[in-house]
Amino acid sequence: MRPTILNPLFAEVTALKGVGPALVRQLARLKLARVVDLAFHLPAMVVERVAVDRVDESLVGRPISVVLTPVRHDSGGPRSPLRVRATDAGGQWLDLVFFGQSGAWARSKLPLHQPRRITGKLDRYGQSLQISHPDIAAPGDPPAGALREPVYPLTEGLPNKRLATLVGEALARLPDLPEWIEPSVLARHDWPGWRAALLAAHALEGEVPAKDRLAYDELLANQLALLLVRRDTRARKGRALPGDGRLTATLQKTLPFALTGAQARTIAEIQGDMAQASPMLRLLQGDVGAGKTLVALFAMLTAVESGAQAALLAPTEILARQHLATLTKVAAGLPIRIAALTGRDRKAGGAKQRNDLLDDLAMGRIDILIGTHAIFQEDVVYHDLGLVVVDEQHRFGVAQRLLLTEKARVPPHLLAMTATPIPRSLQLTNFGEMDASRLDELPPGRTPVETRVMAIDRLEEVVAALARHLAGGGQAYWVCPLVEGSEDGDEAAAAFRAAMLKGAFAGLTASGEPVGVGLVHGRMKPAEKDAAMADFAAARTGLLVATTVIEVGVDVPNATLMIVEAAERFGLAQLHQLRGRVGRGSQRSVCLLLRGGELSETAKARLKLMRETNDGFRIAEEDLRLRGAGEILGTRQSGEAAFRFADPERTARLVAMAHDDARLLLDRDGGLASARGAAARNLLYLFERDAGVALLRSG
Ligand code: ADP
Ligand code: MG
Repeated sequence: MRPTILNPLFAEVTALKGVGPALVRQLARLKLARVVDLAFHLPAMVVERVAVDRVDESLVGRPISVVLTPVRHDSGGPRSPLRVRATDAGGQWLDLVFFGQSGAWARSKLPLHQPRRITGKLDRYGQSLQISHPDIAAPGDPPAGALREPVYPLTEGLPNKRLATLVGEALARLPDLPEWIEPSVLARHDWPGWRAALLAAHALEGEVPAKDRLAYDELLANQLALLLVRRDTRARKGRALPGDGRLTATLQKTLPFALTGAQARTIAEIQGDMAQASPMLRLLQGDVGAGKTLVALFAMLTAVESGAQAALLAPTEILARQHLATLTKVAAGLPIRIAALTGRDRKAGGAKQRNDLLDDLAMGRIDILIGTHAIFQEDVVYHDLGLVVVDEQHRFGVAQRLLLTEKARVPPHLLAMTATPIPRSLQLTNFGEMDASRLDELPPGRTPVETRVMAIDRLEEVVAALARHLAGGGQAYWVCPLVEGSEDGDEAAAAFRAAMLKGAFAGLTASGEPVGVGLVHGRMKPAEKDAAMADFAAARTGLLVATTVIEVGVDVPNATLMIVEAAERFGLAQLHQLRGRVGRGSQRSVCLLLRGGELSETAKARLKLMRETNDGFRIAEEDLRLRGAGEILGTRQSGEAAFRFADPERTARLVAMAHDDARLLLDRDGGLASARGAAARNLLYLFERDAGVALLRSG
């Protein structure tokens, strides 16, 4: 249960003065539901006012605070605003302008010849200077407090002042929490206490150390939670799957190529883990085309050799089908049964088939099951699941990872694979509970993909070049961007492009046959998607027009040209993934990035980076800097715990430290029972990593 000291923070916003249903709705749009949300809602910037004695032209456009004396009221009319002319100490005049206020109001608030402190933004209107809707205070009021005003991220109908007041009330309820950071760490960085840090971050005074501290707090909470998950998993008794080499040795002999050094090393690391009783938790990172699938197969065969079953979880149906095809072919000579189960099997009237498959699975007649999340549905029962492999891990969060392991009687070994090179800082924050292996070597004989950038107004040239490519027997992808907020839009954009290109290539080949143009997008029926992919893989179509559904894992070596439309709308990591679809054979491949007409400097810099490098890690670092972790990990919409204070830059600086400190704390005080341990429990609750605390209790 949450420590009572935190209760005031986790109260609903309605606990604050004057917060009714209308305001609750507005706050909800900003995801501010509880007092703690308000306290953590940091200002986007601060408006700085200049306190002056005299007003002059040079101050136009700036917020100022000045003592003025009203000299004339002009109450306006139905179409013109109320104007109060006022002069400064030197006799320079300007107008204070109010819409929707009466003369009576002006006479009471701004009586003639009585100085007032006026604060607001100085504008020019025609020949005269004016301030609209200024703050009015007594002349003796010091301007100091009002000189720096935090500006909060707002929503329609909720003025900054109102929100600032609410935030102020939330901050007034901040409890004094016992310190969870080691005193030496605090001293070394000159960090304030938690409460002081939060206040400073809102006041935007000394906010750099304050925000660093808050980010560190958040990262520390996250690291503690991940380490608790890790410790809990490790402590559970799993099953050693040492293998005996009878399947893997045969496979190695029949492979048409030798394993790369990196593959051999990684397989050994995985087998080392699987030979232990404590469940493996390993993340395998390897750039696109590095040969992760084969590594997974070796791991799965090792499980099968040991009498267990293995499951391979793919992020899309297309990939699941492709894995089935590839693995069935590679493992053709082995005495094992591989099957696939996807969400559609049920719908496609394959109920009988599906039931048979489930029977076989439950009886242990299937050794390796491949599929989408369907392979973990309730009615899917394994005979003896020993290993779970997750392909393209970045689509799955920590919580999902934990769920996966519930299908087995004893906790299974877990191997997660990702083609997204993950910068170390992100690896720690998102996969901190796992060990990591890197496939840092591509199979031999690959030629690096050449990347070019072209403006979309050269579309005709592009189509002509594409026509030559296709006429020469080459294959190509054409990727259309997702249309923001509208799947129908994606479909329409891709369908439109496909129709246009179909028209362009009718009657193109030497034999007079038109070049086939395939189409794949997210709204198609799975069977149609598969058919389109199969046609392309078998070269029955030369061109595949697609949305990003082909992003991960698709492998058609004869496709050597990738065209990405509106490339500036994609994340760098995503572009890198797309580019990885080509350059899979020995032929030279080209990736053509089509860009819109007007680009920001950042967008230009990003496309330039794509042209300059094929290094996935460099690209990922840059993407992290420019777009944040959610983009790289694909978790922006997935509900994975978001970070409130730990922005990418701070994360990069602080996460390793948070990781080490969390480890140290748990080494010394595994049950978080000491005074500092209790403080750390507060921290876990504060950042809603309480799943970690639950493990503490059960462990
Ligand atoms: P990814 O790491 O992107 O999942 P894949 O597993 O799809 O990569 O492998 C890409 C291609 O490389 C496949 O066609 C696969 O057969 C091939 N491949 C894998 N390992 C090797 C190797 N050691 N030598 C040559 N080709 C390999
Ligand atoms: Mg793959």
